Amino acid sequence: MSLNPHPTLPEFEYIRPATLAEASDFLSHHSDTARPFLGGTDVFVRMRDGFMSPKFLVDVKNLDGTNDIRFDPQGGLIIGAAVNMNRVIASPDVQAHFSLLAEACRSVASYQLRTRATIVGNICNASPAGDTIGACLILGGTLLIHGASGFRREPLTTFFLGPGKTMLKPGDIATAVQLPLPPNNCAGKYIKLGRNQLSDLSIVGVTAFGYKDASRSSGYCFKLALASVAPTPLMPPEVETYLANTPVTADALNEAAQLAYEACSPIDDVRGSARYRKQMVRYLSAKALTEVWKQLG
Ligand SMILES: Cc1cc2nc3c(=O)[nH]c(=O)nc-3n(C[C@H](O)[C@H](O)[C@H](O)COP(=O)(O)OP(=O)(O)OC[C@H]3O[C@@H](n4cnc5c(N)ncnc54)[C@H](O)[C@@H]3O)c2cc1C
Repeated sequence: MSLNPHPTLPEFEYIRPATLAEASDFLSHHSDTARPFLGGTDVFVRMRDGFMSPKFLVDVKNLDGTNDIRFDPQGGLIIGAAVNMNRVIASPDVQAHFSLLAEACRSVASYQLRTRATIVGNICNASPAGDTIGACLILGGTLLIHGASGFRREPLTTFFLGPGKTMLKPGDIATAVQLPLPPNNCAGKYIKLGRNQLSDLSIVGVTAFGYKDASRSSGYCFKLALASVAPTPLMPPEVETYLANTPVTADALNEAAQLAYEACSPIDDVRGSARYRKQMVRYLSAKALTEVWKQLG
């Protein structure tokens, strides 16, 4: 498909439901022609470029608590779907307990874009390149969803089915993402490799996270999540298992990075070749894991 040299938005009808029930009802009755949106930073670009042309755009901001960001040590952090990334970054609770998520948000495009873009939109767009998805996955995130038959929860580990494909069904509206309180003295690092420093999707994104854990024979738990190197965001379990059972040394971290290299299956595209991506996964995984290890002291 060639890009339109004079892009404009196609005609659409703007729908602003008053409640989640009304929104789910409308979306389930117009499943082929209606689409929910939040910041619109993916939806409008894809419409402009001719990749989708919904007849109805359903604005799901401002519905029943979707604008709130809440924290308590038992329930963890609940980020409403409509909360933009700059609000997440500025939240004192995020800064105190979820600095990895703030770091991932800061890597997304520019300040201006982040006043519109949301974490829930990033998740529901289900691009393997989504910068905030790795942190949400690694921190044990769950999506809260209102569907035609009421509320339910979907763990992010099983949410992604392929590029742009998720467990969402017609009528489903993600209302928030919930992250449990991370263990004490944890550490995290997000490294994004892009073609430039601003406004580009990742060629490779590596999120690393770790904490001391007496229940593992190594005394540590480490997790890794990878962006842009598989059809879905990837959290290779081999890395966690290996570093749970092997004394943590510089060599062991390099070996874990090699396991990440073997687990990923990137494609060639305009941003980078598959071969380059795999090499960068190994290099950046070792770098991110080492950084986390240093932070853990
Ligand atoms: C210039 C530019 C630069 C960008 N740079 C980056 C970048 O560096 N990193 C990155 O990860 N992304 C980037 N993006 C992509 C985009 O900004 C992010 O994916 C953003 O997080 C999307 O959030 P949103 O609220 O705008 O989503 P929307 O565009 O509103 O929605 C995204 C998708 O989710 C669906 N959806 C929206 N809300 C819901 C809901 N409540 N329930 C169910 N489905 C829903 C929509 O139908 C759509 O398919 C960039 C985009 C642009 C235009």
